[in-house]
Amino acid sequence: MPEQILINDLGRHASMTETAVRAGVERVLRSGWYILGEDGAAFEREFAAYCGADHCVGVANGTDAIELALRALGIRPGSRVASVANAGAYTTTALLALGAEPVFVDVDRDSRLMDLAHLRQVITQGGVDAVVVTHLFGLLHDMQAVLEITGPSGVPVLEDCAQAHGARRDGRRAGGFGAAAAFSFYPTKNLGALGDGGAVVTGSAEVAERVRRLRQYGWETKYRATVRGGRNSRLDELQAAVLRAKLAFLDEWNERRRRIATRYSTEIKHPRVGCPAVHGEEFVAHLYVVTTDDRDGLRRHLADAGIRTDVHYPVPDHRQPCLTEFRERSRLPVTDELASAVLTLPCFPELSEDEVTRVISCVNAW
Ligand SMILES: *Cc1c(COP(=O)(O)O)cnc(C)c1O
Repeated sequence: MPEQILINDLGRHASMTETAVRAGVERVLRSGWYILGEDGAAFEREFAAYCGADHCVGVANGTDAIELALRALGIRPGSRVASVANAGAYTTTALLALGAEPVFVDVDRDSRLMDLAHLRQVITQGGVDAVVVTHLFGLLHDMQAVLEITGPSGVPVLEDCAQAHGARRDGRRAGGFGAAAAFSFYPTKNLGALGDGGAVVTGSAEVAERVRRLRQYGWETKYRATVRGGRNSRLDELQAAVLRAKLAFLDEWNERRRRIATRYSTEIKHPRVGCPAVHGEEFVAHLYVVTTDDRDGLRRHLADAGIRTDVHYPVPDHRQPCLTEFRERSRLPVTDELASAVLTLPCFPELSEDEVTRVISCVNAW
């Protein structure tokens, strides 16, 4: 059996940051303060600055970040929110928790991002209260173009940056374009904690303040709730300290991910395997996703050679078993087509050049 190449290897990741992470964890241990303290506040400042935004509010996870940001942007039960159906159903989960209704927009076949012609149609028809744009697989959408479409209607745009920490277009980073942005720090993300974590980033002091209240029971001050819909969704001090230690490496890791993706896109040459285009800084290669007309066959071929793969994502939102009412009402041909064709190859910063070469040779030999 050849040595396994995993789809991700957090053990390798941990060893690289162990010294810095340990120092942060020990600082928190000694501080005697574990929730909403100095490391959390410092991380919020540092991450806002990194994103080029004025405000960052730490929350418990990325799905809460989407939900609380939308609530802070005025989304209520019965609101209608445009979003894609190919991004793992996180936004849909948040919308349903809010009592809001997803309006699914199809995606572009090449970029796999929200189709702008379809978005324009949805916005022109009216009745949409917000748009969630997901920078899927680490590719920052053309936010200028998105905002040109939504601008005249005044519909706010939330960026889902859970796969795109640090991606940059025209010198501006993911999270710095929309009315607000949601981040996840789930361990496998480009910036990952040692558990769950998330954040809302925004240029609006008002939106930030609303999220601050919503993440802690709706409190304006201790024990005094001024907004409804609050809950407990805090980023704890240990995770904040870990994220501060790791933030220093993020650009370097993204560079390495991009280099692996570039090698795949230039060196994989197979008539039945479609690779994403080579990208610059707007792509942080969270996942490297190819398309093929025989996914099971390619998966089996790679598995036999000890190379693990995954599928992101096999079930589009409108085909989830618990969402049958959306199946009939949504026409999403490209989303459906991609769901049966996508396959994710190993792409993480600690992958060696030899391993990348092995993956490329193995795909080409299929
Ligand atoms: C991971 C992810 C989320 C949700 O983050 P959690 O922290 O797991 O709740 C949301 N959107 C996208 C695109 C993601 O990849």
